[in-house]
Amino acid sequence: MARKKLVAGNWKMNTTLGEAKSLAAAVAAGSTASAADVAVCVPYPWLIPVAESLRGSKVGLGAQNCSSHKSGAYTGEVSTGMLLEAGCRYVIVGHSERRHGLGETDAVVNAKAKAALAAGLRTIFCVGELLAEREAKQTEAVLERQIRHGLRDLPTDRLANLVVAYEPFWAIGTGKVATPEQAQEAHAFIRKEVSTLLGGTLAGSLPILYGGSVTAENAASLFARPDVDGGLVGGASLKADSFLKIVGAA
Ligand code: PEP
Repeated sequence: MARKKLVAGNWKMNTTLGEAKSLAAAVAAGSTASAADVAVCVPYPWLIPVAESLRGSKVGLGAQNCSSHKSGAYTGEVSTGMLLEAGCRYVIVGHSERRHGLGETDAVVNAKAKAALAAGLRTIFCVGELLAEREAKQTEAVLERQIRHGLRDLPTDRLANLVVAYEPFWAIGTGKVATPEQAQEAHAFIRKEVSTLLGGTLAGSLPILYGGSVTAENAASLFARPDVDGGLVGGASLKADSFLKIVGAA
């Protein structure tokens, strides 16, 4: 099944306001002819000014996290409604830096995925194993657990907005990219698991992104694999030229 590719930049906790605006403007200008969908997931305080820089372009605005709650006494949190009002079309949930660095459990990620989909956001749901888990041949067991717990009880009428990102933790920000074969194997497994959980039609149309040290040099060989539908890009999304080369490879 032909799926439209998506390349999303994850700026993490980087950029000044000035850098964010000029990076967004350069990505917007360089993406006009892209066949793929393009998004940038930026720090919360830069959402509104970056929305302005992206206005009229084909680049979607995204956040890197959201609350599972609609409103109330949740100091420091940001709701999906606030993200929509700020101009977001995308949100990342369950990034491994939040799962492992900030203790987000499968249940927490599931609640966020439900909230994000219910709000109508394109929801980039991240999964991936640690190096020790891969070495212990636990990769599939970890992915199965993350998918079965993280994607349970989702709003069925909103599943067209679901995107999965396979991000092996050992590849994120390390320069150690998964081989195209490793990525393809994991993506095919994820698609099979999603098919079991949510049905074959949804699984067949689901974009599954690879993330972990994607660069302008390695993107094309990753994106050429049949189940790799684009990328979630950290470090290489902070420079317009490298990010746009990755967009061009999709
Ligand atoms: C990420 O932040 O999701 C990521 C994949 O980072 P990097 O591309 O820097 O490995």
